[in-house]
Amino acid sequence: MTAQMLQSYAATLNAMMAHTTDKLRSSVDALANAEGLPPDIADRASMESGRNFTLLMRERDRQALEAIREALARIEAGEYGICEDCGENIAPARLAVQPMATLCVHCQGLREEDRRPSVDAASGFFQI
Ligand SMILES: [Zn+2]
Repeated sequence: MTAQMLQSYAATLNAMMAHTTDKLRSSVDALANAEGLPPDIADRASMESGRNFTLLMRERDRQALEAIREALARIEAGEYGICEDCGENIAPARLAVQPMATLCVHCQGLREEDRRPSVDAASGFFQI
């Protein structure tokens, strides 16, 4: 990977970090402003689900921020764009869409297969 490519990934990651930090900050404000319960029960319910949604989004943003920081650290360490599992280079096209990627397409696919419940276990229900 060229220094120029690394620089452009770092720029993308830094922009993502600024954006995500902003989003996190405004969600903190949204939660702080949501003090005081409205008298109507339906309003309360919708406020509650809005609050849960905000908390969920915050958790996702927090995780994204962590992944961005780790990616920037890998750039610093000269380990950026190398698959964690097989040590091969991650395709530039993949990094362009997902600059925080730690796995090549192949290994990512293998991990997703692992997470899927196995077909054998499911078909066991139908064996008599
Ligand atoms: Zn791999």
